[in-house]
Amino acid sequence: MAETLRPTCRFCGNPLEFTFIDLGMSPFCESFLREDQLNQMEGFFPLHVYVCDQCFLVQLEEYLPPEDIFTEYAYFSAYSDSWLAHSKAYVDMITERLGLSEASQVVELASNDGYLLQYFVQKGIPALGIEPAANVARAAAERGVETLVEFFDHEMAQRLASTDRRADLIIGNNVLAQVPNLNSFVEGIRLLLAPGGVVTIEFPHLLRLMEANQFDTIYHEHFSYFSFSTAERIFAAHGLTLFDVDELPTHGGSLRIYGRHADDNSKPVSAAANALREREAASGLNGLEAYQEFREQVEATKRDLLAFLIERRREGATIVGYGAPGKGNTLLNYCGIRTDFLEYTVDRNPYKHGTYLPGTHIPIYPPDKISETKPDYIVILPWNLKDEISEQLAYTAQWGAKLVVPIPKVQTL
Ligand SMILES: [Zn+2]
Repeated sequence: MAETLRPTCRFCGNPLEFTFIDLGMSPFCESFLREDQLNQMEGFFPLHVYVCDQCFLVQLEEYLPPEDIFTEYAYFSAYSDSWLAHSKAYVDMITERLGLSEASQVVELASNDGYLLQYFVQKGIPALGIEPAANVARAAAERGVETLVEFFDHEMAQRLASTDRRADLIIGNNVLAQVPNLNSFVEGIRLLLAPGGVVTIEFPHLLRLMEANQFDTIYHEHFSYFSFSTAERIFAAHGLTLFDVDELPTHGGSLRIYGRHADDNSKPVSAAANALREREAASGLNGLEAYQEFREQVEATKRDLLAFLIERRREGATIVGYGAPGKGNTLLNYCGIRTDFLEYTVDRNPYKHGTYLPGTHIPIYPPDKISETKPDYIVILPWNLKDEISEQLAYTAQWGAKLVVPIPKVQTL
C-alpha cells in the first residue's frame, strides 16, 4: 500500500485533514531579489495552513531549515524604541511580581542580542540567554549578557538543569511559532523550570488573526499559530499549567501566557485565563466551523481587493504601494498582484532600494518616487502602521492621491 504523504500534527501526531487556508505557492517572504536575480529560477513553497481537528493547532509544514530562520530573524529585532520600551516595562513588572533578586536565575529562549535580558543585568539579577545565531549572541556578550549559542530543546534543558541552573523565570518571546519540535521545546521548559518557577511566553494570538482577517501575517517562517486554549493543551501535556494571561497590542494582538508546574498550587488560575478560554470557546475555536469561515472570509477579501484594483485600472488610474514588509509579500503573491496593478512600491529602508519583491518582482524605490510620479492610489502594505504612514503621506493630498489599506478589508482612507 502506498505511504500517505498527508502531514501530521506537530503537537499530537494526528493526520492533518482540514485546511485552515491555502494561500497557494509563495517564495519566502524576506527573500528580496537583486536585479541580476530577476531572470533566475525562484523557490516557491506551499503556504498551505492546516488546522488539527484534535487539538486545533493551526500549522504549516516546514520548508525552511530552522538554522536559516533563526539566523535571519535574529536581525529583525533590531529593535524599535517601542519594542525596547515594551521589554523594559515587562522586566520591571515581572521582577516585582515574582520578587526576583540577586539569588534568582532568569533564562530567555531565543534571547537575540540581549535586548531584553540587559534590563535584568542592570538590576543585578542573574540572566542567561540561549540563542542559536552566533553573531547575535556575540552582540549580547558585548552587552554583558551571558549567552549560550545553542538550539533549545529537551536535551539541552536536561544538561542545563543538571548543572544546577534551573530557572525561576523562563522567557520566550516570539519564538514558539518558529519551533519545529514543539514537544521537545515545551518539555525542555518543564525540565529547566525550578519547582516554584514561572515561564512567560509571548506569541501572536490566533483569535485576533482570525477576527481581524490578518491572513497576510502567515509566513513560511512561522510554522504554528496558537490560541490560548491550544497553548494550554500543549503545556498541560508537559506537566505545565497556564495560570494567567495578558492580552497585548503587539504584532496585531498578542498573548503573554504565564505557566507553572502543574503541582505548584501557590498560583491559582486567574479570572483572566478562565475568561479568555471561555471567549475562545464562544468564538468556536474548539470546533472546525470557525476555521472554515475564516477561509471563506480570506477568499472574499482576495476577490474584493482584485475587483477594486481592476476597476481602478479600467478607469485609467495609477496605483503604487507603500512599504515592503513580509506581510505585503504574502498578500501580493496570494492575490497575484504584480506590476500590472502596483507599478512599484517604496520603502524607507535603504537596503531594500533597487531590489524587487519576491515572487511578484515589484520594484522598490525610495519614498521620493511618489512625489515624482504622483500616483492616484497608494496601497499601504504595512496596514498595522497606517496612522503613522497616513501622516507621512499627507502631502500627496496636493494632487488628490487616495490612500488605501487592504486589510481587514479594502478601504480608502
Ligand atoms: Zn493536533
